[in-house]
Amino acid sequence: MTELAKSAVLFQELMQAQLARIDRIKATQNSVVDKGVKPIVIGVCPGDGIGQVITEQAIRVLKEVLREAITSKDIHIRMVDGLTIENRAYHKQAIPEDTLAALKQCHVILKGPTTTPQAGDQWPNIESANVAMRRELDLFACFRPISIPEKNIHWAFFRENTEGAYALGSKGIEISPELFVDFKVTTRVGSERIIKMAFEYAKQHGKKRVTVVTKSNVIKTTDGCFSNTAKRIAQEYEKYDITCDEWYVDIMAAKLIDSKRASQFEVLVMPNLYGDILTDQAGQIQGGVGTAGSANIGAHYAMFEAVHGSAPRMVAEGRECYADPSSMIKAASLLLNHIGYTSQSELVDLALQRITAPDSHVVITGDASGVTNTAFTSHLISLLPSLKTKG
Ligand code: NAD
Repeated sequence: MTELAKSAVLFQELMQAQLARIDRIKATQNSVVDKGVKPIVIGVCPGDGIGQVITEQAIRVLKEVLREAITSKDIHIRMVDGLTIENRAYHKQAIPEDTLAALKQCHVILKGPTTTPQAGDQWPNIESANVAMRRELDLFACFRPISIPEKNIHWAFFRENTEGAYALGSKGIEISPELFVDFKVTTRVGSERIIKMAFEYAKQHGKKRVTVVTKSNVIKTTDGCFSNTAKRIAQEYEKYDITCDEWYVDIMAAKLIDSKRASQFEVLVMPNLYGDILTDQAGQIQGGVGTAGSANIGAHYAMFEAVHGSAPRMVAEGRECYADPSSMIKAASLLLNHIGYTSQSELVDLALQRITAPDSHVVITGDASGVTNTAFTSHLISLLPSLKTKG
């Protein structure tokens, strides 16, 4: 068989798998965590690098605000080992089978950042644990809130999490030593479910604008599908006075840092890669990627994590104790909200706002010029009783 014919066979297999995935999405029924379930099991994977230390801080906060629920066995926090880069490399699997099975036994997951190998580094070039987890648990929606009250910025990002450039990110084809092809996959049902979620969020939170981010003028087929799906769904929400506009990802990146425009954006929805990039940028605008958390939601499972990675440079420089734990604490707050512990979630958000306000004397900088993440979290925990009383 020629190289091209072999590639055509591979392509056919990949597309058959995607068509089967469409059928699975269509057959999926939503099932959020039933508040009557007892105990709700929170699985925790600390991850790699700074993940270990910042996840530990998030667990401290969770244990504090869930003390009663843990005592009454309404909540159980369960450590799930096995997602470390050492174990994944040993098994040569993005998520070792027993780890995946253990994760599926939890109702929700709190996950620290995990290292993704790159060709040429010390690890086997296995697939990203994040991409694999989002796919295996069908965590199609990535919700990343960004808030800068003093600039009147309140952005709710909805990133499609299982398609786009990442769906087949480890399945590209080397057609010849000179020709390399990766795939970008967009499905109508996949676009529909994330766009609907963004509009529903706007409706429930009194937001009046949903901004769709694509590059549909250039990437006409896949982004074109996302764009057309958004236009169609937008019509259903006109009766709620929700408007929809579309921006191209390049100018969107510029407008997020345009002080005249930035506060006008409310809910933003976009394909996978654009969401990955723009939400890191938005996290930096908020005060650093270490301040931003995210919720990865599917019909059955949900996973909560930081927007950033394992920061190996910080670890190599011995600065992990100065890594900002706010991202994981925010992830914990999103988790609390998801399982119906909304007052605890609001309390954690309030404490995060207070401790990161411009006049706060507890400042985390990423190095010895600021406090350690343990001291930061201790102070945050010490704020909780007074905030609870005020609330
Ligand atoms: P990164 O997000 O790990 O870190 C880049 C830089 O951002 C750090 O060097 C540091 O200066 C800063 N930073 C990140 N988190 C911080 C925090 N909590 N406090 C203070 N500063 C912080 O990006 P990278 O270096 O490109 O990626 C490192 C590894 O993480 C890679 O293997 C990558 O694939 C992986 N990664 C994982 C996830 C995830 O688990 N969801 C996400 C992104 C990257």
